[in-house]
Amino acid sequence: MKLVLFWLLLIALDSIESKRIKTKVVILGAGATGISAAKSLSEANMSDFIIVDAQSFIGGRVQHQAFGNSQVELGANWIYGKGDNPIYGMATQHGLKTTPSDKNNVAYFDDFGMLEDQEKGIHTSDEFESVKVKLVDYAEKRMKRQQVDLSSRSALSLLGWKPNTPLKAAVEYFNIDWEFSEPAEMCSLDYATGTVDSVTGTYPFGNEFVVDERGFNHILVQELKTFLHLNDDRLMLNTLITEVIYNDQNVTVITSNGHVIEAEYAICTFSLGVLQSDSVQFSPVFPEWKRESLLSFHMTTYTKIFLLFKQKFWGDWQHGGYYTVWQNLNAPGYLFKPASSGDNILMVTTTDTESQRIERMTKAQVGNEIMRVLHKMFPSATIEPPVDILIPRWHQHNLFRGSYSNWPIGASKKHHLNMRAPLGNLWFAGEATSADYYGFLHGGWLEGKSVANSILGCITTKCPVYEKHEIVTGCDSANFNSGNSNPRFLGQFSY
Ligand SMILES: Cc1cc2nc3c(=O)[nH]c(=O)nc-3n(C[C@H](O)[C@H](O)[C@H](O)COP(=O)(O)OP(=O)(O)OC[C@H]3O[C@@H](n4cnc5c(N)ncnc54)[C@H](O)[C@@H]3O)c2cc1C
Repeated sequence: MKLVLFWLLLIALDSIESKRIKTKVVILGAGATGISAAKSLSEANMSDFIIVDAQSFIGGRVQHQAFGNSQVELGANWIYGKGDNPIYGMATQHGLKTTPSDKNNVAYFDDFGMLEDQEKGIHTSDEFESVKVKLVDYAEKRMKRQQVDLSSRSALSLLGWKPNTPLKAAVEYFNIDWEFSEPAEMCSLDYATGTVDSVTGTYPFGNEFVVDERGFNHILVQELKTFLHLNDDRLMLNTLITEVIYNDQNVTVITSNGHVIEAEYAICTFSLGVLQSDSVQFSPVFPEWKRESLLSFHMTTYTKIFLLFKQKFWGDWQHGGYYTVWQNLNAPGYLFKPASSGDNILMVTTTDTESQRIERMTKAQVGNEIMRVLHKMFPSATIEPPVDILIPRWHQHNLFRGSYSNWPIGASKKHHLNMRAPLGNLWFAGEATSADYYGFLHGGWLEGKSVANSILGCITTKCPVYEKHEIVTGCDSANFNSGNSNPRFLGQFSY
């Protein structure tokens, strides 16, 4: 017995023994950006790197959880566009199960139940679609005239759109808040609602909803396995980073279990929310131009609340709602094993301050509120309270502090360049640093690749120079250059 205890003690001591580790590149975060950066380094035969993440799994904000007999995605769920979208390419390559997401398959409800005249809803949605096209033209015209950015609310009003009926407000919510996770008052015209992305998407052929029981992060795990074993020492999961000390020569990373990682370069892929918070101590403190840039963008909160019912009391629509947006996970193709699971799942989304309010409530309190809305939506149905509720709390989560970034009114192109610019040998990448695809998984993936190539440049030849502005002045429109556009923006700028 004594012998067993002795060995157990030794094993325990070994597992908490702090280590001093040296590497060329340390990648902070094993989300899409971190995996992409590591893959690009590997492809260039640079294997001297370490990936560190506090979570026990790969994927960051791409994560799933069992709910009923199904798996639900708590974070990223849609692949936005196909064509050259790298995420779509990986999904195809790794056989990820998806189903088409049809934003036109909507049922409209009001305070008295499903609208009898569904055409009224369709007509209002069509009306808003044409306003969205006008927003893009309007943004382009204003940029050409070197006019200042506007809030999307101001632009919508100037274009004659007024959400002065509950139906119009719901349609606007579905198109703006549900996508950008913030209301029109907050969203920039030039860099959010007035971009091509808001109308057609920047990749073609429609969106796919992931319904794979292995989870959306399966594709990231498969990508990682192409160059690293999951038990390789270069993958340090369950490791919380508490401090990052950087200068022009190297970066030292300190973890909560006492490890010290000394690297020549670091790629920080923490979310914008984490960088805005004090979760990790950076030494020296970021200079003011960097802090101004990080604080100028918004880390929003998008909450998918999952409700499991004994019985299904709703129809076969994909999206519906009056108060917020509801999704029917029992719609054809949506649950990964619909017939055998026996699950009846509705998903309702909240955003922004409403999400933050909900995160402060208990499951039971949220359930009661939701039941009141459902009784109004389905007045003649007998609805038993849900048997289970799942509420991801992204805003409160210390590893994310929100769900994804948004470009608000008041943040300029120069702020974005500053957010992306390295500090000494500490480099930054993530969905938020992608001008074209901020907020999206593919934005993170492309940024990971880009930052890895920059560091490879530093190692092999010369570091690329990233534009940065110690003082941000003026409006971006003055920099308008019609020959310099990129996929998301018609004329705003490109890197
Ligand atoms: C609710 C929700 C819905 C979304 N829907 C979609 C969608 O449908 N389609 C889409 O394309 N995108 C969607 N997104 C956005 C998408 O998930 C992100 O853009 C993408 O996952 C970001 O990847 P990343 O690697 O840049 O960041 P992250 O995934 O945040 O990776 C950063 C990593 O850093 C780690 N980390 C943070 N702090 C520390 C620390 N102190 N120590 C150690 N590790 C740390 C984290 O654990 C994390 O793994 C959604 C996001 C959310 C939350």
